[in-house]
Parts: sequence; structure tokens; C-alpha cells
Amino acid sequence: MNQKAMPAGRHGFSQFILIVIVGAVLVFGGVGFWYYQKPANQQLPVPQTEALPTSSSGEAVSASTEQSNQSGQTNQKTTSKTSARDDLGCFPPSCSVIPDPQGKQICLDWKANKSVTWPSSCGYFSGQPACQKLCEAETKTATQDTDSQTVSTSTAVPCNLAPLQRQFSNTPYYSGPLFDAHFHMPQMFKIPNNPDAPVIDEDVPRRDVACLFSNKDRIKNVFAFYGIPINLKDQAVVIAQDIEKKYPGTMSPFIELVTFPGYPVVPSSINAVLIANQGLFKGYGELSLYLPHYNGVDSNDPAMRELYTIAQKNHLIVMVHLTASQQQSFEKVLQDFPNTIFLLHAAEDLPWASTVFGTYFDKYPNFYYSVDIDLVKDAVFPATTKADFIARMKQNWQTMLNAKVAEWKSKIEKYPNRFLWGTDRGHYAWHYDPEVEAYFEEFGRAFIGQLDSAAQEKYAHKNAESLLQKR
Ligand SMILES: [Zn+2]
Repeated sequence: MNQKAMPAGRHGFSQFILIVIVGAVLVFGGVGFWYYQKPANQQLPVPQTEALPTSSSGEAVSASTEQSNQSGQTNQKTTSKTSARDDLGCFPPSCSVIPDPQGKQICLDWKANKSVTWPSSCGYFSGQPACQKLCEAETKTATQDTDSQTVSTSTAVPCNLAPLQRQFSNTPYYSGPLFDAHFHMPQMFKIPNNPDAPVIDEDVPRRDVACLFSNKDRIKNVFAFYGIPINLKDQAVVIAQDIEKKYPGTMSPFIELVTFPGYPVVPSSINAVLIANQGLFKGYGELSLYLPHYNGVDSNDPAMRELYTIAQKNHLIVMVHLTASQQQSFEKVLQDFPNTIFLLHAAEDLPWASTVFGTYFDKYPNFYYSVDIDLVKDAVFPATTKADFIARMKQNWQTMLNAKVAEWKSKIEKYPNRFLWGTDRGHYAWHYDPEVEAYFEEFGRAFIGQLDSAAQEKYAHKNAESLLQKR
């Protein structure tokens, strides 16, 4: 299906996820550009609110009694508005110069002695030591709560994902294991401009994410995408490590590290994270090159080429979502990096899709493809709630199935070793609901059942497992 047929602004879940990243960076991640600089890209979907009236208080820098007593637990609601508090150098003289609405709101609330919504971890201010200190001082109680939760969940709580209960009666039907080759992890913290974006451990416990893949008769493993600004890398790494420790072999994490401002791909930074965490990540991506902050990035840029080399050295599958303008450059990449495995999706939306499906599999043995959200996008894209999604799945089930079998069956069967199944979930917290998973899964099984028997297991899970072996 071409992009015009898709809901406005939705080119798959991945578009959303990187908007999230941009929002995250603009609010919390920028080294000094949280409020002092313009957004890295003027096309970013960050609403620029009017400058709010700046607080006339709170601009003094002398330490207040409350700050100097080291309590760190200033009760903002009861602190007098007229008392000068030390912001430790975090805020600019006027909050109105902060371009990001949420950042501006934090500044305004703090200066007005109102309750401030801080990020879930003050480590997000790692590029702004003054703000990190202030955040830590102001959220000490909350941090202690989080710490105690972490301790209480330091051992794995066993999963108990029941067998799939079928809702439909399609025959033939694939009943073997599945491998989800396209799955987005929840965010590291609440994203101001995307309030729907679920936060890991707040909206969706990491255990619940891992447990979606715990029943080896159902979806036995997953390529799980951590798309994060480079300065949030530590949180993502810790979570990926923790899941692997508690639920070994359940998830196969991919990482995507985006640097702001400027050119978003910094190979040396990426390499450092990979070297420090050898073996943890199985892939790099999703690289959604059509997103605003990748404007000006070509898949064959020198930095991108360096990234592919790093990926190969670190045994990473590279997962890419291309733009319409990248046909020649990406072919050059496929030619020049024959030892790097490239996994694409959503090329069916490109104007040169026929070239991809007609020639790439023969010409480039390192080229693989996942057919994921396209299978059920007519139900997923418009749905904003679990109930809405389920209603749309029920209503459109057979129509979607017939259409997708017609679209994909011959392509997959022609190159049965090169296609992978996936879901592309993660836009809402309910995307991680086991009941929602069951609909994705059963639809996948009904679709796979329509494939030639020689292709079924390969597309369902074996090709993904084979990529993990080959990399
Ligand atoms: Zn994508």
C-alpha cells in the first residue's frame, strides 16, 4: 500500500518513536540546548507555544534555608513564592526563552514554587549538571521510592503467558513458534509531546514486556528496538541487561543512538556504547531515515558507512526504514557492505518498491525484509484504544487477511529464506497487552497458514533465528 493510503502522519510505528526521541532530547537530553538553542530541526513536531509570562520570583541565586539544610525535599507547594530559592544555575533568567513547552513549564513551575513534573530519572540531565543536581535534590523522595522498587524486583518474577486462545477459525493455520522481528520498547520516560507514549516500568513494567515472549510455543523471541538519544543510553543499557539477566534468551535487543544537535549519527559514540556492552545488542535500529531529524542523512554518507562497518564488527543486524530518495545510495551500501546484514521494512511504500522486490534478493545476499505492521495496519493505525483495535480486527479480519495474502504470498514464497514476520508494536501502552498480542499473533498465524508449507516456518521464526546466527 502506498503512503497516500495511510492515515495522515503515520508511516508505521517507527515514525512515532523517533518523534518521541526528538521530544525527549529537546526537553531533557540537550547538552545546553534545552533552552538556550533552537530545536535541532525546525521541522520537528514540537509545538512552539507562546512565551508564557515569566515568573518574577525565583531568579535569585542565593541558597535558601531549605536548600542549604541539605534536606533536598523542599515542599514546593508550601514554600513561599517570595522566598528566593537556589536553582543551582539550571534555569535561564527568563523561562520564556525555553523553546520547548514542557521545559518551559518546568522552569515556570519551579520558579512559581508549584509542583514540578521532573523526568523519571535525573540522569536525563546528564548533559546539564546544574539541572541534574537540582532535579536530584527536588526528587529525592521519588528516587528513593524508585530505588526500593528496583530492589524488590531484583529477582525475576516468573512469566505465565497462557496458550493462545483462538478467536477465529481460519484454515489452513500455522501453529508453530513465531519470532517478532519488529518490536519497539516502551520509552525511558514520559514524553511531553507524546503523552500516549508508554514509559517502561511506569506504564508497562519491563517484566510484562519480556513475558510477552516467554511462551516458546507462541512468540518465542523478538528484535526489540531501543531508540534513544545518545545521552539516555545508560538507562536503555541497564534495562536491556536486566531483562537478559532475568529472562535470558527471551528478547534480542537492538539499539539506535541518536545525537543532537547536528548530524545525528556519531559512529565513535555508538562504537563506544557497543564496545562497553559487547554481546548485549543483536542489531542496530530501527534507522527511520524518513524522520525529520534524519533530514540530510543519506544512507551512503561517510558516517553511515562507518556505522555499517561498526555494526559488522559488533555482529549487529542493521534495520533500516528508507526514504523514496535513497534508492541509488542504498544499493551502493548493499554492494559495498556485503558482510553487513541489512533488514528492511516498509519498502512496499517506496516508489521503487518493484525494484526492491524484483531484484534485491537476487543481487544482494545480505538483504532481508520484514513484513510486519503492514499486515494489520488497517486496524492498528486508526485505533487509539485496545477496545477500538479489537473491534477493528474483528470487523476487518477476513478482508485484511485476503488482501495481505494477495499482496505478499508470492513475494515471500519466491524468496522464502529472506522474509521475517513482525508486529511493529509500541505506540500505546495497550500495544503491550497480552490480549492485543493475541490478535497480532493469531492474524500472523492465519496469514502464515496461507503460505506454501516450505515458507511457513522460515518466515515465522527460522529466518530471524538464522540472522542471529549469521551476524
Ligand atoms: Zn519503520
